[in-house]
Amino acid sequence: MTGRTHDLAAFTTITFLIVTQPLIHISLATGLVALAANMIGGVAPDIDQPTGKVWHQVPAGTILGRLVHPFLGSHRTISHSILGAFIASLIIKAVLNYTHTFLLVDNGIVYLAFMLGYVSHLVMDTFTKEGVPWLFPVPIKFGIPPVKAMRITTGKFIETILVFPGLLLFNGYLMYMNYGKFLDFIRHYVVR
Ligand SMILES: [Zn+2]
Repeated sequence: MTGRTHDLAAFTTITFLIVTQPLIHISLATGLVALAANMIGGVAPDIDQPTGKVWHQVPAGTILGRLVHPFLGSHRTISHSILGAFIASLIIKAVLNYTHTFLLVDNGIVYLAFMLGYVSHLVMDTFTKEGVPWLFPVPIKFGIPPVKAMRITTGKFIETILVFPGLLLFNGYLMYMNYGKFLDFIRHYVVR
């Protein structure tokens, strides 16, 4: 999947969360940081691709990406697994503990937004031809459907024509069906 699709898939988890969970009061800062964390989480597993989108989001990222690359192995190994998600959760927790000294946001919400983004990435990649080594270091790549030929090729027709617009429609549908709740959330629950 392309970075664009991963961003949208990550965002979809937030939409889904708002629709299915009771609304809670958050600060505007928490909302914005959580949204950013969600986007970063959504592309973070592609840290093992030196040209991956995640590297374009940090200064000198592409150079850094090429330096780190040999240590992470080829594309879709540890960062695309449950173990990788666990390690990422430890890293994000450590980062949030540090930023908490000067960034006044609800760490729990930001953490959740990041992890939802991260997991959405693995789920989306599971639908692609390459599959996902969920149980790394067990060298098996899982895919849905199990027949490789029926899965999606990254950046190709099905992704551009079906997956991306499909996710867009799904978001639109959820927002339309629950627009009162979304308005409520923005008006009364996101406080300055
Ligand atoms: Zn990926």
